[in-house]
Amino acid sequence: HQLMKKGVSQATLQVAVRCRPLNDFEKSRGYVSITRLVDDKVVIVLDPEHLKEQRETNLDVLKRSKEKQYVFDRALGENATNAMLYNVTVAPLVHGVLRGLNATVFAYGATGSGKTHTMVGDDQDPGLMVLSLRDIFEHISREQEKQFIVECSYMEVYNELLYDLLENSEKPLELREDPKQGAVVVGLKRILVPSADHIFALLREGNKRRKTESTDANATSSRSHAVLEILCTRSDKNCYAKQVYQGKLALVDLAGAERAHETNNAGRQLRDGANINKSLLALANCINALGKRKKKEFVFVPFRNSKLTRLLKDGLCGNSRTIMVATVSACNQQYHHTVNTLKYANRAK
Ligand code: ADP
Ligand code: MG
Repeated sequence: HQLMKKGVSQATLQVAVRCRPLNDFEKSRGYVSITRLVDDKVVIVLDPEHLKEQRETNLDVLKRSKEKQYVFDRALGENATNAMLYNVTVAPLVHGVLRGLNATVFAYGATGSGKTHTMVGDDQDPGLMVLSLRDIFEHISREQEKQFIVECSYMEVYNELLYDLLENSEKPLELREDPKQGAVVVGLKRILVPSADHIFALLREGNKRRKTESTDANATSSRSHAVLEILCTRSDKNCYAKQVYQGKLALVDLAGAERAHETNNAGRQLRDGANINKSLLALANCINALGKRKKKEFVFVPFRNSKLTRLLKDGLCGNSRTIMVATVSACNQQYHHTVNTLKYANRAK
């Protein structure tokens, strides 16, 4: 029992992987799915070169094969909904956030792998940002003795500059270190959220303000990180000396990971050096360090190296909980991105 308390149940970093299904275009081109779930924790990626033989073998054979298996805290397949992902990742954290704990959830993966689908989603399948807020309000409605205030901010980190996604302003905001509050974004709009229904419109509006890439029209937002912060303040209803708790849930739709992979692969020598995404690399380094810390090795976590990691520090260290959702495409065309993402996520675990 003691071990449970110290180890598994207190795990501060959890990694989940999610495979997106082929879209109609991919199907029309005759592409196929190369990801297979062994169980709710293990994924196998079929090598497209050997695909023909492997497609004739069943999962039992695959399980015993030398094909690389990747193990995570959770693995979800092509049919999983955002709600299913939510229930096994973020849902267990909400109670703590309403009692003053910090938590951070981010989607990591190549452009087109499903990060925005996972975080924002649509009307049919609302994403983790929306589901979290709904759940927070659901919890609050059951608390008779306490009083809650829920506030949100939504911002973008683009080329190491911060922009408010709730405002029509092109002016970057300053990030300042406050001895008491930690990292503070000066002038960032923080809105009082009256109910979960209000968030969808805000997120959609905000996403329209995200920077797109002039050089590649398809790669919308592939270099920008969108950060939703939900601040929950709890106090007693009928009490003089009110005790106040503040918990923060940060949900991050990260920039496309393909450049980070390229950068790693090329030993940081990209063709166009300006494209190196400092924040993504810094976050990757922090996650690696946190992963090692989980294994009780002593490591220095380099939070100061980028805007994103400075911003998220509170939600990544101490007794905060972190969830990384690695998104991959099941499509054989995306083999290299998929393997790179899984390798990275596997290291973080
Ligand atoms: P990213 O934000 O990683 O670039 P998107 O979330 O925009 O990728 O996903 C690319 C496309 O694939 C979108 O049209 C999206 O609706 C679709 N998609 C992504 N994940 C899923 C999923 N799990 N199930 C169904 N469609 C998905
Ligand atoms: Mg996106």
